[in-house]
Amino acid sequence: MRAHALIFLGAPGAGKGTQAREVARHFTIPQVSTGDILREAVKRQTPLGLAAKAKMEAGALVPDEVVCGIVEERIDETDCQKGFILDGFPRTIAQAQFVDRMLQAKGRGLPQVLDIEVDEDLLLKRLTGRRTCSVCGEIYNVHFNPPKAEGICDKDGGKLLYRADDNEQTIRQRLEAYHKQTSALIEFYRAQGVLHEVEGNNDPAAIAKGLLEFLSQA
Ligand code: AMP
Repeated sequence: MRAHALIFLGAPGAGKGTQAREVARHFTIPQVSTGDILREAVKRQTPLGLAAKAKMEAGALVPDEVVCGIVEERIDETDCQKGFILDGFPRTIAQAQFVDRMLQAKGRGLPQVLDIEVDEDLLLKRLTGRRTCSVCGEIYNVHFNPPKAEGICDKDGGKLLYRADDNEQTIRQRLEAYHKQTSALIEFYRAQGVLHEVEGNNDPAAIAKGLLEFLSQA
């Protein structure tokens, strides 16, 4: 892996979290997921959580200054010194410009960007079928990758939950936010020459294998 920062782009349901998790494990670098940080803040009812909750429930983006602040704080932690993966961030051009400034200030080069491309009908199935372990965060899908026992994590027996924003109406809003605000980042990073497009309609394990091969050579 050549770049200090790896960014996963893709629509909601494209498999960013699943793939970022595999890559983070492989290279032993942290996965920084703004969605996970925000969900945790909502659960704990911190001021950040209280500020973000309504936006998240509506499937809208949380303001740039809020998420940029979260990321800046998180990547200043020592475990990010070797490199890190951004999962679900940036989502707007302003956030992407912030990443560039931040990397520059730290004397780092451009990020490496992986865009996971998935057909819209498959995105919907992935989102409606998604279940996450309440203990370890492992991601399942009732259609494609069900747990051995319904509602229970194979790894630690934790209860599987579905995300509050994985309901049909919110999913529609999230996809709209992606098309309106986030998809422009594909051109932004293509112009920087750092974009790598990934065919995301395949089986997640096959995608992870291809990704790890690519990153090991890149
Ligand atoms: P995710 O888990 O990445 O799908 O994010 C879940 C929700 O958190 C999104 O629908 C947004 O409301 C919020 N969120 C996560 N990351 C960002 C971001 N980079 N910018 C704005 N909102 C975000």
